[in-house]
Amino acid sequence: MSKKQKWSPEKGERAMVEGIIEGSPDAVGVAIIRLDCGCRKMAAVDKAGEPASKIIMYRDQAESICDQCKKDNGDFMRVTEQFISWVDPEPPGELRRKIIAKVLGVVDQTSH
Ligand SMILES: [Zn+2]
Repeated sequence: MSKKQKWSPEKGERAMVEGIIEGSPDAVGVAIIRLDCGCRKMAAVDKAGEPASKIIMYRDQAESICDQCKKDNGDFMRVTEQFISWVDPEPPGELRRKIIAKVLGVVDQTSH
């Protein structure tokens, strides 16, 4: 990557998503969970809303995740944002809603 290009976390995220999808033929999207420390959790999901890959944790431009994440494994208390990045072409709206409810709903339930 050229030094002239400004690095953005979204760009790093995009590259990770593409890598995950390449390794997960069943994936219709990748769940992205952003943590307050700057690390990310990601996992491919299939059309049933089931995980289609291992959960991957990474930190932009770093060789490993931060010490906090090593300790708490990216605790849900520190989640700042979570969403699904869809494979192109995106699944139809109804299916997207189902998958989101299933994937992110499961995450929510652990916090109650
Ligand atoms: Zn972290």
